[in-house]
Amino acid sequence: MQNLNILISSQTMDPELLRIASKVHLGERISETEGVYLYEHADLSYLGVLANFIRESKHGDNTYFNKNFHIEPTNLCVYDCKFCSYSRLIKQKDEGWALTLDEMLDQIKKYDDQPVTEVHIVGGVLPQYDLKFYSELFTAIKNHRPSLHVKALTPVEYHYIFKKAKIDYETGMKLMKEAGLESIPGGGAEIFHPEIRNQIAKDKCTGEQWLEIHEIWHNLGMRSNATMLYGHIESYHHRIHHMEQLRQLQDRTGGFQTFIPLKFRNQHNQMEHIPEVSVVEDLRNYAISRIYLDNFDHIKAYWAMISRETAQLALNFGVDDIDGTLDDTTKIYSMAGAEEQNPAMTTSELVNLIKQVGRRPIERDTLYNVIQDYTDIKFEDEALKVNYYKLPVINN
Ligand code: SF4
Repeated sequence: MQNLNILISSQTMDPELLRIASKVHLGERISETEGVYLYEHADLSYLGVLANFIRESKHGDNTYFNKNFHIEPTNLCVYDCKFCSYSRLIKQKDEGWALTLDEMLDQIKKYDDQPVTEVHIVGGVLPQYDLKFYSELFTAIKNHRPSLHVKALTPVEYHYIFKKAKIDYETGMKLMKEAGLESIPGGGAEIFHPEIRNQIAKDKCTGEQWLEIHEIWHNLGMRSNATMLYGHIESYHHRIHHMEQLRQLQDRTGGFQTFIPLKFRNQHNQMEHIPEVSVVEDLRNYAISRIYLDNFDHIKAYWAMISRETAQLALNFGVDDIDGTLDDTTKIYSMAGAEEQNPAMTTSELVNLIKQVGRRPIERDTLYNVIQDYTDIKFEDEALKVNYYKLPVINN
């Protein structure tokens, strides 16, 4: 707050940036034009002040994480998204895997004595993973462990499955809910604008279809997340257009919990020639997301994708959630050249990571119910010699 007051009393700042800062201070929504202006003209320190003001107004120092693991049914896929490092086409099946229902249940059972609260299921799109298959999988998981939250699949899979089953989205999502699905992760959104989507992911569901499936899900009383793949061939205008579609849908339903910006990584995919954006651009993007999406409660950074250190920094640029323990159960990040090749953190490591930058570590469940506040809990392996401090926010 103090930093923002200093900033809006500045005599030397660009008047347009000053005006936007005053709007944020008053809790007013910024426009699409103002969002693009921030991307084009605002520096990191200015954005940090605004985003941190919003972050701390909403959550104080609370920083959320959960205990989760992933199941990735297959890396084979009928689609051929240009940015995808994870999937193999069916003709390359020797390089892939495709788990059976029993193999996935065996993975679930490995966690029977562990205090995980969520299984996150997402992977490639294959004809044999159809409506019947996923209905049976979700029901079997819930029968085995009713308390484990099933967060699974994206509109990319749902669009394909329902089309194959010749049912409409609403019928399909009702069936998924009855089978045991509890929330939808944010994937498959990429960039909604057709100018970009048609170049990088042209065969899968459109942006409108992605939004429609989430809207139907929200109208069933359920929650979901949203992502944006940034830092490739899109312009700032496309990023703001993407967030504007999400903001409008959130105004209608209130069903989104978290927005997760996903950095484009350029290893092992068809866009290797495109350089990755800098960490500064990552932080600017988190901050502008926090400022623009005024009706989203949470902004999340996947520590496994951007590195533990950048995740710590991001907590001063609007981020209040750094995802979960993962337990080395996902290959999606590492195959794309993410910082962590075998992503797993113990609870104490996650708690330390958050405490080291002066924030309060809060374990949550998928729906952001608080499970445990770790602020005053000490672990034996806690890095006690480290000085806990919060990054100073620099003023313009
Ligand atoms: S991004 Fe998803 S839909 Fe696209 S090729 Fe990769 S796994 Fe398939």
